[in-house]
Amino acid sequence: MFKELEAQSEALREAARVEPLGLYLHIPFCVDRCAYCSFVSTREESLRPAVLERLRQDLQTWGDELGHPLVDTVYLGGGTPSVLTAGELTALTDEVKQAFDLSALLEATLEANPGTVDPAWLQVARGLGWDRISLGVQTLDDDLLRRLGRIHDARTGLEALQQARAAGFQRISADLMIGIPGQDLARVLDDARQLVAAGASHLSIYMLDLDKDCPLKAEVAAGRLVLPTEDAVAEAFEALQEALPSLGLPAYEISNYARPGQLSIHNTRYWERRPYLGLGPSSASHLGPWRWTESGDLHAWTKGTGARDIQELNPAEALAEIPLLGLRMLRGIDWEDLRARAAGLALLPLVEKWEQELEIFIQLGLLTRQGANLRFSRKGLLLSNPVLEIFV
Ligand code: SF4
Repeated sequence: MFKELEAQSEALREAARVEPLGLYLHIPFCVDRCAYCSFVSTREESLRPAVLERLRQDLQTWGDELGHPLVDTVYLGGGTPSVLTAGELTALTDEVKQAFDLSALLEATLEANPGTVDPAWLQVARGLGWDRISLGVQTLDDDLLRRLGRIHDARTGLEALQQARAAGFQRISADLMIGIPGQDLARVLDDARQLVAAGASHLSIYMLDLDKDCPLKAEVAAGRLVLPTEDAVAEAFEALQEALPSLGLPAYEISNYARPGQLSIHNTRYWERRPYLGLGPSSASHLGPWRWTESGDLHAWTKGTGARDIQELNPAEALAEIPLLGLRMLRGIDWEDLRARAAGLALLPLVEKWEQELEIFIQLGLLTRQGANLRFSRKGLLLSNPVLEIFV
């Protein structure tokens, strides 16, 4: 635990006792930097021992400080966790098992870049207990993959899915990106079909995000590449909404589709506001009323000198997160339950204000209210941002 939260150690320990945690570990290494990347990642191999040692220390410290609580989901993200050698992955997995109680583990996911996996590594990972894999395929068009600066081609993307299946992974997710310059609708739909046919039981749809400075953004700014129009991206999103259920993968969240029983349990905890601990640079945590994000400055994080962003949510902020996050799930939220919680916190006027603001979106057909249940309609899933802004 770090000094800013030392005074809260008993409260944090209690929060970790109330229900099992999710554990996220960030592996900040990649073979190469993609042209659109805004994640904390580096190609500096020399940093690896220090980063892994720091992760080991953090696992031990937090495990001790929180009293070795139950963890029911583990997620190894990045970066590219699949750049870890089999030995490094084994050591890290053992450290997680020593620090936390995994006796009620529901899911252990690792992210992998198709360009960095092979059958032997996948078998080691599966044998260590990782039972879900999320592959960053993005697209099956070699020209687009080159444009994105990905290190793999389409064939390698599909082979990674097949190799994961052969290694015993039955829960396989693939990332599919939309909004790439030069990508057309037929390509998106064909990619989705091929990924499902190759064994993906879960698809995460990402829109290309060029908010932060990156080489692809510079290409677009210089006029050398043209982004698809907003209408074209919306059309792709809608076409996937239409196509994926008929391929056996209905949506369960705005951008996530899964075969029945194959949703990401770890990611669902974010939308349900269940507690999680993030370790590694830029990782986020939510425990009790506290949310914090580790420094994204890799060198500073490794030395333990990076600034953390720590926030203690007040009751109104915590209440607002219930619809803000929960409405992302297609099943929606129980509005009467929200009202009851608000009443217990003397925050009913806040909920009544939201109700007034939501009314227009219900009338426009973006939200559906049936009894206590409030959820987005299909049209609303596409236009969710203005609705969710009510709760920000
Ligand atoms: S694989 Fe992911 S984290 Fe690594 S450079 Fe590419 S986008 Fe960034």
